[in-house]
Amino acid sequence: MKPFRYERANDERGAVATLAATPGAKFLAGGTNLVDLMRLGVETPELLVDVRRLPYDRIEARDDGGLRIGAGVRNSDLAADLRVRRDYPALAEALLAGASGQLRNLATTGGNLLQRTRCAYFQDVTKPCNKREPGSGCPARAGEHRNLAIIGHSQQCVATHPSDMAVALAAFDAIVRVVGPAGVREIPLVDFHRLPGDTPERDTVLAREELIAAVELPPLPIAANSTYRKVRERASFSFALVSVAAAIDIVDGKIGDIRIAFGGLAHKPWRAYAAERSLRGAVADVAAFETAADAELAQAEPLRDNGYKVELARRTLVRTLVELTE
Ligand SMILES: Cc1cc2nc3c(=O)[nH]c(=O)nc-3n(C[C@H](O)[C@H](O)[C@H](O)COP(=O)(O)OP(=O)(O)OC[C@H]3O[C@@H](n4cnc5c(N)ncnc54)[C@H](O)[C@@H]3O)c2cc1C
Ligand code: SF4
Repeated sequence: MKPFRYERANDERGAVATLAATPGAKFLAGGTNLVDLMRLGVETPELLVDVRRLPYDRIEARDDGGLRIGAGVRNSDLAADLRVRRDYPALAEALLAGASGQLRNLATTGGNLLQRTRCAYFQDVTKPCNKREPGSGCPARAGEHRNLAIIGHSQQCVATHPSDMAVALAAFDAIVRVVGPAGVREIPLVDFHRLPGDTPERDTVLAREELIAAVELPPLPIAANSTYRKVRERASFSFALVSVAAAIDIVDGKIGDIRIAFGGLAHKPWRAYAAERSLRGAVADVAAFETAADAELAQAEPLRDNGYKVELARRTLVRTLVELTE
């Protein structure tokens, strides 16, 4: 591992100022992704600014009935929070579907959002990869891409975003609260992660010196009837091939409000707006769920070896909605 300096941040302004003044600096939270990538030589920061002492470890009720989740809240604490389990169960389920108990005890809300892709070429510094080394090429396109993106990819990158938690947050219209040199800004979760386009090295719209302070969950009554379904190669310790977070509200046998997001399909958590539009006001039955899945997946552009994901996503969505409406 390349030698690096280490500092502990005592306040958010100081942390942001240090990052802004030090080109090779990065924030450190639980370290479960960043330190792994440093060991592999993928990340080579000159300075780590440890943000674990910042007062970001609380989950607070908002005046409007929503929740404010500090960026430092551990994944295990968030999954166990009674308000999350009662009012946003898909979020608790998504968290528990990720990693392992030990990792969730270290992993934080902010770090989870910024974890990097699991594309094997990205993690192997002996291989080209546009995300790690812009302009070097994307061997995954012609090579190993079975688990990679079917929607929104580009010639430059076909990676997927690995977070389970972010999929539930995308379905629930969460907002990411960020502190930067110019002050605070709020970014809708659905706009926080990017599609790769010509700059796959940028996973999100966040500037390097911007610090995630919190994730805001608005009040969303239908989220109480939500769930997260994850399809993966093993029952644990495995990333999603396809996942679905969904919430639904049935009024007089018809669908009132509905929220759907997919994981494992794209470079970002994929909010399924076309499927939602297709389902609002429809009778909640399998035929309507299949039509909605087809409406969303019409934009899929699978590669040579990952066409199976289109059918898998279709079936996963239908099964999830059946389960929510039984
Ligand atoms: C074996 C294994 C299996 C896993 N399986 C899953 C899985 O199935 N599903 C899943 O979703 N995840 C999985 N993970 C990933 C895990 O959830 C992430 O590693 C973890 O959430 C990252 O959080 P962290 O606090 O450790 O972040 P760190 O590793 O400390 O940081 C990650 C990134 O976030 C940045 N960062 C951290 N905090 C902030 C902040 N407040 N503001 C700005 N930048 C910040 C860091 O600079 C770094 O770039 C797995 C990890 C491992 C090792
Ligand atoms: S898919 Fe993206 S991360 Fe994977 S090799 Fe191509 S550029 Fe790199």
